[in-house]
Amino acid sequence: MNIPFNHPRRESLLIRERLVDGFRNGIVAPEGLIAHGRGECFDYILGEKTQEFALRAIEAAAAAILLANHPVISVNGNVAALVPEYIVKLAEETGALIEVNLFYRTREREEAIKQHLLSHGAREVLGVGEDASATIPELFSERRRVSPRGILIADVVLVPLEDGDRTEALKRLGKFVVTIDLNPLSRTARTADVTIIDNVVRAMPLLVEKVRELKGRDRGVLKETISRYNNNETLQEALRFISHRLVELASRELRIRV
Ligand code: ATP
Ligand code: MG
Repeated sequence: MNIPFNHPRRESLLIRERLVDGFRNGIVAPEGLIAHGRGECFDYILGEKTQEFALRAIEAAAAAILLANHPVISVNGNVAALVPEYIVKLAEETGALIEVNLFYRTREREEAIKQHLLSHGAREVLGVGEDASATIPELFSERRRVSPRGILIADVVLVPLEDGDRTEALKRLGKFVVTIDLNPLSRTARTADVTIIDNVVRAMPLLVEKVRELKGRDRGVLKETISRYNNNETLQEALRFISHRLVELASRELRIRV
């Protein structure tokens, strides 16, 4: 598709194209396309920019991943299609393991995601086929399967664009959960320990950059960063930002005259 350079929704349309390509290549589930639309709506309202509350969450997330003994990055189809190179970079910088973790699990999609990540330089991808042999209690059917070398024994899990049921299950297992989710009202956003309210395409590069910056820091300083961080404040600030922005927009001339 040819999108003119001055098209006001160019960025957003390019992201859509990546997802549609992912769908055609068996990486993205049809439901993943719909989930993206829900995210896009919040991104529109947030002004399609990384806001202050997201930057603070990114700092806390970087500190938590660097302090972890066994960090795992959970990847679904949308995340694999949108930011494969940054998943690989984050794993390299932190020693985190990468695990495929699908809401709509099929052997073909798991394998397609694994191959996609390997082609972007991932050394190992857990959670595919026989490797997803452990189960998370309380979750049903295929959604409960995890890798015994990955999420099962992880202390910190990054779950971008995760479903609320599974985030709750991870919390009950005692994991420290970091998420990236554009919707500050989703159950995942409200259950996680650190919620980066931003588009995954903007948040992941910033998270990799932050990890690089904080890598050499004293562990005490990183622990301090996490204890200072308050996720409820992040959620509140995001909602305040949205309400102020809408009130401000509502006082302007909105009609577009052509
Ligand atoms: P929950 O189950 O946590 O209550 P939900 O049922 O509303 O959330 P799901 O489809 O389960 O939504 O989860 C997908 C989440 O990912 C949504 O909150 C959506 O806003 C978010 N999302 C979709 N695309 C992106 C993106 N590109 N960047 C960040 N977040 C996104
Ligand atoms: Mg859900």
